[in-house]
Order: sequence, then structure tokens, then C-alpha cells
Amino acid sequence: MENWAEKDLKYIWHPCSQMKDYEELKPSVIERGEGVYLYDVEGKKYLDVISSWWCNLLGHCNPHISEELKKQAGELEHVIFANFTHKQAIRLCERLSKILPEGLCKFNFTDNGSSAIEAAMKVSFQYHEQTGNPQKTRFMALSEAYHGETIGALSVGDCDLYTKLYKPILMDIVRVQGPDCYRCPYGKNRETCKCECFEKAEETFAKYGSETAAMLVEPLLQGSAGMKIYPPLYLKKLRELCDKYNVHLIADEIATGYGRTGKMFAFEHAGVSPDIMCLSKGLTGGYMPMAVFVTTQKIYDAFYDDYNTGKAFMHSHTYSGNPLACSCANAVLDLLEDGKILERARENAVYFNKIIKEKFLLHKNVGEVRHIGLINAIELVKNKETKEPFDGKLRTGYQIYKKALKRGVILRPLGDVIYFNPPLIIERKDMDYAVEVAFDCMTEVLG
Ligand SMILES: *Cc1c(COP(=O)(O)O)cnc(C)c1O
Repeated sequence: MENWAEKDLKYIWHPCSQMKDYEELKPSVIERGEGVYLYDVEGKKYLDVISSWWCNLLGHCNPHISEELKKQAGELEHVIFANFTHKQAIRLCERLSKILPEGLCKFNFTDNGSSAIEAAMKVSFQYHEQTGNPQKTRFMALSEAYHGETIGALSVGDCDLYTKLYKPILMDIVRVQGPDCYRCPYGKNRETCKCECFEKAEETFAKYGSETAAMLVEPLLQGSAGMKIYPPLYLKKLRELCDKYNVHLIADEIATGYGRTGKMFAFEHAGVSPDIMCLSKGLTGGYMPMAVFVTTQKIYDAFYDDYNTGKAFMHSHTYSGNPLACSCANAVLDLLEDGKILERARENAVYFNKIIKEKFLLHKNVGEVRHIGLINAIELVKNKETKEPFDGKLRTGYQIYKKALKRGVILRPLGDVIYFNPPLIIERKDMDYAVEVAFDCMTEVLG
């Protein structure tokens, strides 16, 4: 039999990996997917409770999405998107504009999340430049933010694991000390607090607001930081503060959009609208790489003028508005339209959180179990009282990951935070299995 894993390692440099780790743990060679399951070439079954890096929204090889994609492939695979358009993109924007937070109505297409972030940053800067505020040349973002991996997106991010090494080549960002609800320096609780920590944002805006074009934020959930969750009130306050200083509020809903937080978009929890929203991941159900930023008429209008004024947004990607990706995005909306999937996911989220709490909360190394929507995170600590983390060198999360993988559950913890972020269609028996395996593996490693 052909050794696919060996051959893979001969050629492929995998993302976000120390390739030497693959000496001991070979890559799983996946042959097919169905619902929440993946199957490798040897027929082994894996439960994908992390939605293949958070993008698979409605299960693998969803029959409706696959069918729509096939149909589209038979009609039109791609077309230049400058001066040309197609029905799939138009339909998609029309449908999204009806469900997005109020005011978001103009769509710009890119082909991955990081690119959408960078396009949004460029638009914000250019807007200010063209409306009499050329001094607004900087960007603000929260501590421990994650907005992608390209140089601009990486600059606004603040997760040491990804950014630290590259600091010398990154942009100079204004960092806002953000919420840290598990280790709250104010001794408050995210369920009842008044976002006392927001004073840090106020201080930063007072100092740098006048030179800042936009503030980027992952609403309610800082995913890569370890599924850190903070209250909607923070976003409401941020909206007011941004208005006060004429700073754009850019919502990075790449991870939180499409029902992940229990509502279609996380910003809905706060009842306010951002000036620009970035979407990707769930947008195509995890089928095709595509992203959009959506903005307001007001921002759009600042670019709308005679060609020779030079006000156009001269930003492009070859695959902007790809019809295959748009067909998947429309198919996803077909499935979400009647609200039944989101409703079931909300009901199941209550169950999921309950069984996770019952299983994990009493363990000596579980510092916190937090959840939003179906996303649940278990933060492991060395000392529950002091919240002291484990020494990162022990790679505690990674040890648990390897054990769970053997038993056919894909966990991929963020450091020592074990989390679940399953497709919205996951059923209770699969939740039960994921929780049981994760707990067993954790106790095997930690006692
Ligand atoms: C994944 C992600 C990105 C980057 O998207 P890519 O498609 O991986 O470039 C940006 N922001 C958030 C919040 C994400 O989760």
C-alpha cells in the first residue's frame, strides 16, 4: 500500500506546525468527509469538533452545498470582477444585506480572512485621507487580538506565538489593554460587571484617538487568544468611544459570524453596528476560500467621484467574487434561512455546556469553563486558586491532543485551552462522545 503520510512529508510544509513534530505524529491522510466526521485512507473515523479550523459550518460534504457547487462549476467557474459581475455574487449581497447589522450595505470581496482585514484597514485609512483627516494613519486593536497572518493583519494581532518574532517588520499599532475576564484585574465577573476595564480603552483613545483611523475588534470572542469571552457591553461602549473620536469600528467577525455565538453575528448581542465588518470562515460553509468586508453607504460615498479625483479604492484580488465560492455562500444561506439550524444549535448549546461543566469543572486543573453558542473552552491551569498556568514547555494541551486523536476526536487545543467549536449541526451523541474522550485524555495526562 502506498505510504501517503511519508510522501506528504517529502513535499509539504504544513501550516502552523513545527515539522519535526511530524516525525512522531504523522499527518492523518483524510480521504472523505461526511457531516461531523472525517475518514482517513485506512478507514479511521475522526470527529471534527473544531470544524476544521472553525470554518466548516454545516458538516462536511453537505449534500445541498455540494450540489450547488457542482451546478455552478458546470456554468461559470470564474470571471474578472472589475466591470463584470454574476448572479451568485449579486444574490449573495442582496441576501446578506437583509440580515447584517443595520447600515452595512456595500460589499468588497477578497479570498481569505487576513486579506479582508487588510482591505478594511486600507479603506478606513483612505476614507479619512479623503475626508480631511490625513493625520489618521494608525490602527488600534485589543491586547491578545488575532486578525490573521499576513503582515498587516499580523501587525494588528497580539498573540505572541504568531507575532513576537516578526515585530521588527510589523506596523506600529496602538494597543488597547482589553478585557481579561478569567483573570480580571478588577476582581469582577463577566456576567455582572460594568466593563470597568473599559477605562483602559478610554485612556488610550484620549491619547491616540486623533491619529487613529480604525479600531479592530473580535466581537465577544477572542478565538486564537484561547477562546477568551467578554460581555457585549464592551462593544456598546466601544461604539460610543469610536464615534466620539471619529475612529472607525472594524468588526472582525471571521470567527464569530454565522451563528457561532448563538446569533447570526456577534455584534447583534450588543445591538450596535460596526462601520466595517469582515466575514470569512463560515461564509462558504468551509467549502471555498472567500471573504468579504461590508461597509456603510457613508464610507462608500467618500470614494465615489470622478475618476481623475483619484478617490477610487484601487484594491484587487484575482479571485475577487469567485462564482464557485459565491454559490457555496448562497447555499449556506439557503440552509440557514428558515432559522431552524440556528435554533437547534442554540438548544444544543445549553446541553453541550451543561455536560462539559458537569464533567470538567471539578477537576483540579480546570481553571474555567466558558462558552458562547456551541463554542466551549476549558482553560487548564497548574493551580486553580492562583490561576497560575502550566509551564508552556510541558505542552500539556498538545499531549491531550495527541491522545484524543488516537481515539478519533480532533481537539487541537490553543496552548492549554481545550475547546470545542463544532459544526452547528452536531448531534448530542457526538457531543457526549467528544466530551468523554476529551475528559479521559485530560485525566490521562494530568491525573
Ligand atoms: C481565521 C481568522 C482570521 C484570518 O483568516 P484567514 O482566512 O485564516 O486569513 C482573522 N480573524 C479571525 C478572528 C480569525 O479567526
